[in-house]
Amino acid sequence: MEDLLKLKGKNIVVMGVANERSLAWGVAKSLYKAGANVIYTYRLERSLGKLTKLLEGDNLSTENIFQCDVNNDESIKQAFTAIGEKFDVIHGIVHSVAFAHAEDLKNPFLQTSREGFSFAHDTSAYSLVAVAREASPFMTEGGSIVTMSYLGAERAIETYRVMGVAKAALEASVRYLALDLGKNNIRVNAISAGPIRTLAAKGVSGFNDILRTIEEKAPLQRNVTQDDVGDMTLAILSNLARGVTGEVIYVDSGYNIVG
Ligand code: NAD
Repeated sequence: MEDLLKLKGKNIVVMGVANERSLAWGVAKSLYKAGANVIYTYRLERSLGKLTKLLEGDNLSTENIFQCDVNNDESIKQAFTAIGEKFDVIHGIVHSVAFAHAEDLKNPFLQTSREGFSFAHDTSAYSLVAVAREASPFMTEGGSIVTMSYLGAERAIETYRVMGVAKAALEASVRYLALDLGKNNIRVNAISAGPIRTLAAKGVSGFNDILRTIEEKAPLQRNVTQDDVGDMTLAILSNLARGVTGEVIYVDSGYNIVG
């Protein structure tokens, strides 16, 4: 299997592990099974603490962790320069980062402030562009960039609000980045994940109803897991997906095809 994936020893940067429930942690677990060298970025000290504990708990190295605040260009530049200098080549990036102000996830979309709109887009969509720009000079052997999206990008899901609009910008950015970076054999794709209970999901109201609807209506009649998302992300990072770029790939029990 390792031969098919071609990820053994490859340097993959995973952004966005806040705790053991994070989608990014699911991806990291899949990457370890494929023998990849996993490198992490974090924003807050408390995420660093949780990540360090997770790694120590599994007897994994805590050496490859870098601070990176995606709202700050200088921080992104510093993080990827440090990673590039330490490892020479970056083969893959998992961008699993998003944020919006709590009030913009609670109030009707109509009430979104200019600042709240721009902050959600800056953190959740522009960050992918900035990360791709700083990382791509180190992706000298080609590579794969994967980000995390949600169905609210293309459908008006009432409780998703400004984040849905930011995810629409994220998915469009995936296509334009794929166009720019394809000549360097760097692929850019999004996973559109079904709802999973994480820290970020706490900001979305009516989450239990969303989970219940999937169980009732999705073809697979169940909600997806962190491992479902982790394994599909692994596939997109791997050589199996070498002909796939600019796509949004659904890991949602098929819910998006219904109704
Ligand atoms: P999470 O809270 O575990 O992860 C979100 C991460 O974003 C955290 O690690 C946080 O530190 C990071 N982050 C926020 N602002 C940042 C900044 N300025 N700089 C650097 N990092 C920052 O939640 P999650 O559900 O694992 O979310 C990961 C991604 O998956 C997000 O893009 C989210 O929108 C997407 N997603 C989640 C679901 C779900 O139901 N959980 C579904 C579809 C897509």
